[in-house]
Amino acid sequence: RVTVIGSLNVDTILTIPRLPKPGETLSMHDQTFAGGGKGANQGIAAGRAGAETAFIGKVGDDENGRFMINSLTDSNVNVDQISVTKDAKTGQAFILLDDNGQNSILVYGGANQQLTVDDVKAAEDTIANSDFIITQFETPVETAEAAFKLAKKHNVMTILNTAPAPEKISAELLAVSDIISPNETEAQTLTGVEVTDEASMIEAANKLHASGAKCVIITVGAKGAFYHVNDDNYGFVDAFRVKAVDTTAAGDTFIGALSSQLNPDFSNMAAAIRFANRASSITVQRLGAHPSIPTLAEIQTAEAA
Ligand code: ADP
Repeated sequence: RVTVIGSLNVDTILTIPRLPKPGETLSMHDQTFAGGGKGANQGIAAGRAGAETAFIGKVGDDENGRFMINSLTDSNVNVDQISVTKDAKTGQAFILLDDNGQNSILVYGGANQQLTVDDVKAAEDTIANSDFIITQFETPVETAEAAFKLAKKHNVMTILNTAPAPEKISAELLAVSDIISPNETEAQTLTGVEVTDEASMIEAANKLHASGAKCVIITVGAKGAFYHVNDDNYGFVDAFRVKAVDTTAAGDTFIGALSSQLNPDFSNMAAAIRFANRASSITVQRLGAHPSIPTLAEIQTAEAA
């Protein structure tokens, strides 16, 4: 059982020739809407990968909020702990994708910023009944901390995905994080170590351990992922070679899929990472966030091919 606490956004993807200059009017190629938000992506990834999944989050009392709740429900995610506020709109992101494949993103936090410690307390039973709790930094950090403290009270394993990268993570939050999972840029922001080869990954992992993290997983895009539980238990798991068209939600799919497979004692870490690599290799071959996240059947089909 997996519980994700985090953001829900509706993404508007605008494909454009190039960024307009100030004062300029430019025609765009196309516009598409899709569900997104790091929290929702991770919840959908876990749910589609077959885990019994619940979501704790907040949306506005609007069409976008109802759209998000429906799309999580359709992906096997329990939405009983998603609350609706009249004080803010549902989170949104505007993704400008130019002809060179470069993207510029504007995010409106909205209701995500109003997810409170009380919302988490109200979901204590959901947290207590989980094997893993996952969160990120698109909802308030004090809410994440309260959730992880509740999780540890009930011996639930916690996964902190460090996106978008904060400059620093409090010692208090690290102390209650069983797994910390940055990508290579986030690992560098957090440790100052440029992550290139295995030696630098071990160095970055050791710095994160020294600040309190128990297990470190660093994802390195098309190369794969590195895990470090301790000096006797670490390794690199290669990614699958595919032609990537849009890497949006790659890291989120990785985390969600990983949590659907991992044993709470980490005994199958390498196999769970291999599965997560497989799932995210499908995501990068498709456009958008939610529409690109694979189901268990799709992961198994790719595995058998
Ligand atoms: P994020 O999306 O958070 O930046 P990464 O880029 O590190 O995260 O990607 C997460 C995972 O997605 C990788 O560990 C890998 O398994 C998979 N992945 C990402 N990009 C590719 C790619 N080009 N080809 C195959 N797999 C990829």
